[in-house]
Amino acid sequence: MSYRSSNYRPGCGRTLLSFLMGAALLIVGIKIGAWKPDILDDTEYTIGKTVADFLDSRPVIAIDAGHGGDDPGALGLVDEAELTGETAEALFDLLEADGRFQPVLCHEKGTTATIQERYAVANDAYADLLVCIHANSDPESSGSGFECYPAPPGRKYHPESYDFAEMLVEEFSALGMTIRGENGIRYAYYDDNNEKYLVESSNSLVFTDPSFGMLEKTKAPAVLVEQCFVSSESDLALMGGESGTAAAECYYRAICRYFADQLEDQPQSDNVQDSENTDSSSTTEESTSDEQVYQPVELPSDE
Ligand SMILES: [Zn+2]
Repeated sequence: MSYRSSNYRPGCGRTLLSFLMGAALLIVGIKIGAWKPDILDDTEYTIGKTVADFLDSRPVIAIDAGHGGDDPGALGLVDEAELTGETAEALFDLLEADGRFQPVLCHEKGTTATIQERYAVANDAYADLLVCIHANSDPESSGSGFECYPAPPGRKYHPESYDFAEMLVEEFSALGMTIRGENGIRYAYYDDNNEKYLVESSNSLVFTDPSFGMLEKTKAPAVLVEQCFVSSESDLALMGGESGTAAAECYYRAICRYFADQLEDQPQSDNVQDSENTDSSSTTEESTSDEQVYQPVELPSDE
C-alpha cells in the first residue's frame, strides 16, 4: 500500500489517511449506535479504540536491533546482538517516555527473527522511520568508529534517509566517535555472487544491485547503522558500555531533529528533559582522527 506522494514529509501522508479513516469509522459508529442501541456499548468501545489508533498521528519509529537469538552477530568484548539489543531497548524507552513518538521494536531482544519478519513489523506499523542498529568487529582490535548506510540513490526514500544519516553522523561525532570513510555515510550493495561491496556517499550513481534487505523493503526512510566496533574498548566506552545508553541518546536526538517541524506543536511528556534542545545536539565536532584512508571492510554477515 502506497499513499505517500513524492514530496513526502514525515508523517503527513499518514496524518491525512488517519483523519479520513477516523472520520469514516466515526460515521459508521454513529450509525450503528442509532440503529442497534442494544450493542452500542461494545460497538462504541471497539470503534472508539480503532478511531483513536488511526487518529494517533505521532511518528512511528521502527527500531531494528541487528541479530539476536541464535545469531550473536559480530563477536568482540561484547556480542553485537547484546549491545544492539540493549541500545534498541534504551532508545525505545527514551521515545516512549518522550510521549511524542510511537516506537516499535522489529523484534524483542534475545529473539531470532528473519529480515522478512523484521521489515514486516515496520511496514505493518506504518513506520515513518526505520533505524537498524548494528556494530562492527575487528579481529585485530584496531578498528574503531562509526559509519551508517541510508537507502541508496535511486530508491524512493533515499533523500530523507540521507538527511537522517547526516543527523546521525553529527550526533555520534559530537559524542566523540571516529567517523569512518569520507563522511561516515556509505552505500552497501550485493553483487550477482551475493558479495557485499561498499561505495562512499560521494558516489551518487544509481546502482541496481540490491542494498540491505531492511533498507530495500521497508516503506519508509531507513538507515542501517554500524554504531561502533564491539572489539574496541574505547568505542564501547563512548557507547555507554554494554548498555548502549549513550548511543541510544544519539539516535533519540537525531530522531527529534528529523521530526522537528512535525513536533513543534506537540507537548513533550513532563517527565522528560528537553534534551534535543541542548546545545550539544546541534554542534558538530570535527573527527579527532586524521584523514582516514578507506579500506573495504568485511562487515559482519548481518543481512
Ligand atoms: Zn550486524
